[in-house]
Amino acid sequence: MNGLMQQQPLLISNLLIHAERHHGEQEVVSRRVEGDIHRQTYRELARRSRRLANAVAGLGIGFGDRVATLAWNGYRHMELYYAVSGSGAVLHTLNPRLHPDQVVWIADHAEDQVLFFDLTFLPLVEAVADRVKTIKAFVAMTDRAHMPTSSKLPGLLCYEDLLAAASDQFSWPSFDENTASSLCYTSGTTGNPKGALYSHRSTVLHTYAAALPDALNCSARDTILPVVPMFHVNAWGLPYAACMVGAKLVFPGPFLDGKSLHELFEGERVTVSAGVPTVWQGLLTHVEANNLGFSTMRRTIIGGSACPPAMMRAFQDRYDVTVLHAWGMTELSPVGTVCTLKPRQLELNGEQRLGVQAKQGRSVFGVDMKIVGDDGAELPWDGKTSGELMVRGPWIIASYFKNAGGDPLVDGWFPTGDVANIDTDGFMQITDRAKDVIKSGGEWIGSIDLENIAMAHPAVAMAACIAAKHAKWDERPLLVVVRKPGAELTRQELLAFFEGKIAKWWTPDDVVFVDAIPLGATGKMLKNRLREQFADHLLNAA
Ligand code: ADP
Repeated sequence: MNGLMQQQPLLISNLLIHAERHHGEQEVVSRRVEGDIHRQTYRELARRSRRLANAVAGLGIGFGDRVATLAWNGYRHMELYYAVSGSGAVLHTLNPRLHPDQVVWIADHAEDQVLFFDLTFLPLVEAVADRVKTIKAFVAMTDRAHMPTSSKLPGLLCYEDLLAAASDQFSWPSFDENTASSLCYTSGTTGNPKGALYSHRSTVLHTYAAALPDALNCSARDTILPVVPMFHVNAWGLPYAACMVGAKLVFPGPFLDGKSLHELFEGERVTVSAGVPTVWQGLLTHVEANNLGFSTMRRTIIGGSACPPAMMRAFQDRYDVTVLHAWGMTELSPVGTVCTLKPRQLELNGEQRLGVQAKQGRSVFGVDMKIVGDDGAELPWDGKTSGELMVRGPWIIASYFKNAGGDPLVDGWFPTGDVANIDTDGFMQITDRAKDVIKSGGEWIGSIDLENIAMAHPAVAMAACIAAKHAKWDERPLLVVVRKPGAELTRQELLAFFEGKIAKWWTPDDVVFVDAIPLGATGKMLKNRLREQFADHLLNAA
């Protein structure tokens, strides 16, 4: 017997319709590429998104066509999120930090039809314009007064002109909730990038779960500033969650330095933010150096790579900002686990509690997880045994776009490539990425643990721990370290800092100091680059 409830497809356009009807006066504030602050309400956002939907149709975009963006976090990008997906086309958020060759490869693979871009990226667009095979129109996301002239882009269109010429009457179509809504490529640090193709259903379900109190905890009383880019897994879903709950949204545009962010946090009374650890490093340095604080910010979601406990300590003890450590992947839309404490963990003392917060957290409902050994058998949840983390759920990919790489699933589970343990309370901790694991004499050494210890040293700005070849043990840990500006620190001092904090045989064999650690397009340390550079370091030193 069926239930007797209404059938309504879960569509992204409904998030916008809801925000307009129930939170119409709520603000979306954006720092623009031009540098000024722009304000509009959800009501205006909805009206402009309808105009844009008409404009996009006018450009010949049909159901399922891909529309690409090269854009920062801002209101026009948000309008594209809703106008493109809402009309049944697919929003493809290209990562502007990639090399032009990769942008061309990805745009061709996705068969993008139109490209919308922020003015910052004009040089990149000019570099790829006559190489991309399927893009038939380029749109600069600006007004007439700021339109560039470019000999390489003769038919360049103006975003605000398109909107002005389009009607604001548009009925969001209804269609199957399994229809593709947006497309995001993995960074492809190994091999070609692969596309994760989200659906309306997966996106809306992910939004419900991500907004929950024990997840990203979003409400109408919040002012959310996503530092994580809208081209990095849909800014972790926050542009959708904000509409669902009616939160005020603040977009930082291209200005991600500590000073600009802090001004925006204070000026707009931001309560919650989200980003990768490397971004927060810049913010904390600025706040410390200028003796500032946070008057309204109470939570920050940190994920994308492991958040060093030293950073948590700084946010929580010094500035009263709670860190929510979260783990996810492009293939997971991206939220998988969030480290919100249960009553038992709340009772722990400071250091023990920090030990739990350093874990990546508990699964949100909708993401089931397990760890498995080399033979595929499930391993116990004892907080010690580690194995490959596998996940399944309705917002986790079933296969990559155009079936790249074949069937990724193993018995219905997606292998994440992360190595993790899970404790008796269900808190998962990543010890490594499978490809970053250090195997010393057949035993694993967790590089993230070693990095966290190094990062706790007051003279260390950034640390990466990598496997270097070793004559006797195959591989041994090598620390690559960037010192804080003006700080002095020797190899011996740093190695002595590890004493008593880990098993002796885990201690790194050597330290190399560098000016900078290479970061990938999503702000993560490129350990494979370091491994290439320092592969023979220990052999040569021997
Ligand atoms: P990419 O593969 O391009 O880095 P993703 O953003 O999808 O793109 O990265 C997902 C990976 O990032 C995860 O598999 C994991 O290795 C790492 N990651 C994400 N969040 C965390 C975290 N909180 N701690 C440690 N690693 C993390």
